[in-house]
This record gives sequence, C-alpha cells and structure tokens, in this order.
Amino acid sequence: MTILELTLAIIKPHIVKNPVFLDAVRNVILNSDFKIVKSKRKRISLDEATHFYEEHKHKFFYNRLVTFMTSGPSDLYVLAKENAIRDWRSLMGPTKSFKAQYEAPNTLRGRFGLSDTRNATHGSDSPESARREIQIFFPDFNVDEWYRTAEQKFRSNLIIFSKEEFIHKIVDT
Ligand code: GDP
Ligand code: MG
Repeated sequence: MTILELTLAIIKPHIVKNPVFLDAVRNVILNSDFKIVKSKRKRISLDEATHFYEEHKHKFFYNRLVTFMTSGPSDLYVLAKENAIRDWRSLMGPTKSFKAQYEAPNTLRGRFGLSDTRNATHGSDSPESARREIQIFFPDFNVDEWYRTAEQKFRSNLIIFSKEEFIHKIVDT
C-alpha cells in the first residue's frame, strides 16, 4: 500500500440540517474506507467563505454560493485514503446536481443535491488545493507533521473510530 493522501470534504448546510441525509453521507465515507483525520462542525464565516471560494469571485453564482455556505453549520472533514482526492470526488459525482441526478444518480450529489448551489458536498480538486483548504479550516493542523508522525499508523490501521466525534484516533500502544 502506498502513502495516504489527504483531502478536505465539506458536508454542506442543507445536509447537516437533516440527520437522515447526514447519516447516509457519513456511512458512504466509512464504507468507502476513508479514515477521518480531523472533524468539526461549524458555521463557515463570511471571511472564510470568501477566502475559500476566491477562484470563483467573478462567477455569476458566487454571491448565492457564499450566502448558502454561510447560512448554517457545515461538517468539515480531513479525509485520508490512498487516492483520497480522486475517490472522494468520484463518490460526490458531477458538480451540477441536476446533471448528477441523470448521469450519476447513485453519487452523493445525485442523491442529495437540491440545486446547482446546494450540491451537498465539497471535495478538494488537487493536492495543492487540499493543503490550502485544510489550512483555512484547520489552521492548527500541521500536514507535514501528520505525515511524519501519524500517516504510517493510519495506513497500518493502528486506529480506532469514535462514533460520537466521527473521527479516527491513533491507538495508544
Ligand atoms: P466543485 O469543485 O465540483 O465543487 O465545483 P466548482 O469548484 O466549479 O464550484 C464550486 C461550487 O460552486 C460548487 O460546488 C457549487 O456549489 C457551486 N457552483 C458551481 N457551478 C455552479 C453553477 O453553474 N451554478 C450554481 N448555482 N452554482 C455553481
Ligand atoms: Mg472546486
């Protein structure tokens, strides 16, 4: 097995509001063999959303996107897996929910997307974006240190899962 990759997943506000949908998304994550390295629920601030979606600031959907993303709590996860970025994006499906509903109905966006804005989940699109996005929401999390001290333990499954916190923790040995 090769080295684990990290990605930032966001479970968007309309999913976090609905316990049945949230549970379904969490089960997809666990059943697809992702390890949850960091996990928190928070209402994204306007500053964070503006910074996070900088690349989209001139798009027609930018205002509704930032308004929606700051409208209520999101779940923010740092996920680890061998090809975390690619695998998480493939579970999410196409960006546009209506396209996803027709072309990939079993993906998360196909199942839970309500509109092109409210498309259920976010996933980083490259290792560089993942690093940048993780820093925005987990400023105290040091990616390099995680690779030095924790990656191998996660890879070797020396971890336990806490259902309450929705996180994997390294077991004390
Ligand atoms: P992603 O990487 O698949 O999330 O897609 P993008 O990075 O292109 O877009 C970021 C987010 O903006 C998406 O997840 C959607 O919430 C939203 N978005 C993208 N394209 C559209 C669009 O055409 N219309 C609307 N309303 N929202 C969009
Ligand atoms: Mg994107």
